[in-house]
Amino acid sequence: MSMFVDVANIMIKAGDGGNGAVTFHREKYVAAGGPDGGDGGRGGDVVFVADTNLSTLVDFRYKRRYIAQNGQPGQGKRCTGKSAEPLVIRVPKGTVIRDRTTGRVMADISGSEPVVLARGGKGGWGNAHFATPTRQIPRFSKPGLPGEKFEVTLELKLLADVGLVGFPNVGKSTLISMVSEAKPKIANYHFTTLTPVLGVVRVAEEKSFVMADIPGLIEGASEGVGLGHEFLRHVDRCRLLVHVVDVSGVEGRDPEEDFARIMEELQRYSPELAQRPMLVAGNKCDIAAPEQVERFRSFCEGEGYEFYPISAATRQGLQELIYAVSRLLDTLPPVREYEPEPIPEEERIPQNSREFTVRVEDGVYFVEAPWLIYALGGVNMDDYESLQYFQRVLRNTGIIDKLLEMGIQEGDTVCILDYEFDFVN
Ligand code: GDP
Ligand code: MG
Repeated sequence: MSMFVDVANIMIKAGDGGNGAVTFHREKYVAAGGPDGGDGGRGGDVVFVADTNLSTLVDFRYKRRYIAQNGQPGQGKRCTGKSAEPLVIRVPKGTVIRDRTTGRVMADISGSEPVVLARGGKGGWGNAHFATPTRQIPRFSKPGLPGEKFEVTLELKLLADVGLVGFPNVGKSTLISMVSEAKPKIANYHFTTLTPVLGVVRVAEEKSFVMADIPGLIEGASEGVGLGHEFLRHVDRCRLLVHVVDVSGVEGRDPEEDFARIMEELQRYSPELAQRPMLVAGNKCDIAAPEQVERFRSFCEGEGYEFYPISAATRQGLQELIYAVSRLLDTLPPVREYEPEPIPEEERIPQNSREFTVRVEDGVYFVEAPWLIYALGGVNMDDYESLQYFQRVLRNTGIIDKLLEMGIQEGDTVCILDYEFDFVN
């Protein structure tokens, strides 16, 4: 049983912010001290980093919930609660993270920089924040904000320049083992390769490319019947495909038929993939009759593909193949990276969770609505458009109406999340 796992569903939750404190300054011989409640600490972020030592997502089958620590509550003497450390999740390089409910791409963990996927909640303000000349004894503080929480799908999409495709047993693993340091299993039976293998192919002193040996495709693979289908995601990013075909016919198969079947599989999985730049390597030339090789060459060239006769076992033709691949790669765009997709506005405020409460304390209107943090995540209040968006959210979700109903007046203070502002209708 292969331990290769390239898709996993997990839950990530950033830490909540600590609550603000309600305390009053105490000192000997000083009668009524002022409010000195400190703010809560920030909750820990959930951060992803690429780890080049990892090659599968198997760990995520055993642990599915990842929860960062909460921030500490604030304390007296204006002491801010301790912020929580980020929770760092290590994934194989090339892991694409999607929001499970919407399929939205959240991040592509392909670079060396850590990526924050769920932001910790801010700490609540302590009562020290709420002292004004007219409100000298604020007996309230603000709760910390909840940390972001997501159900996500991790999907490993290898980062390779070149992907080998072809039937099982045509010699893909042999090829990669001969041109790179990769040590895949090689055997004379089908389905040997259960894990994609990456190898760095050196072309010259300062020049190399990454080759991926993908488990063999078989008939029906694109319908999920065989093994190959789920592995095709790994050639998604490849800039170039090398289609390896056994030209010898030792297994009693016809190279042209094999070629056509693999192309059908690619086409069925993704028409775009079938259009990917590709060249053909005719393998096992050491045991093939020259006429067989030449016949297949004219077939391939007729289909519009460059053809390279090789023998992976004896290294015949490998140098020419590598140079051809390298030359082609020079003309092709870089390996695809997935751009994070922005959250659409309607998704920021889920329809089913628009409840909120408003309470008045000392003339301050506190609006509590945990979902607002998602709605307002990333809103910069110094920016006019963001401010308009913010006002739109307050209006559309009924918060403004509720405030009016409760008798709010122009100039009264409204507190939402960690924004405090004068009410203007
Ligand atoms: P894969 O399933 O495509 O990865 O194929 P493998 O690399 O595992 O090879 C399958 C079998 O073909 C093994 O027994 C290899 O030794 C053999 N083989 C691979 N390349 C050549 C070649 O160039 N010539 C000959 N005669 N046999 C080869
Ligand atoms: Mg193999």
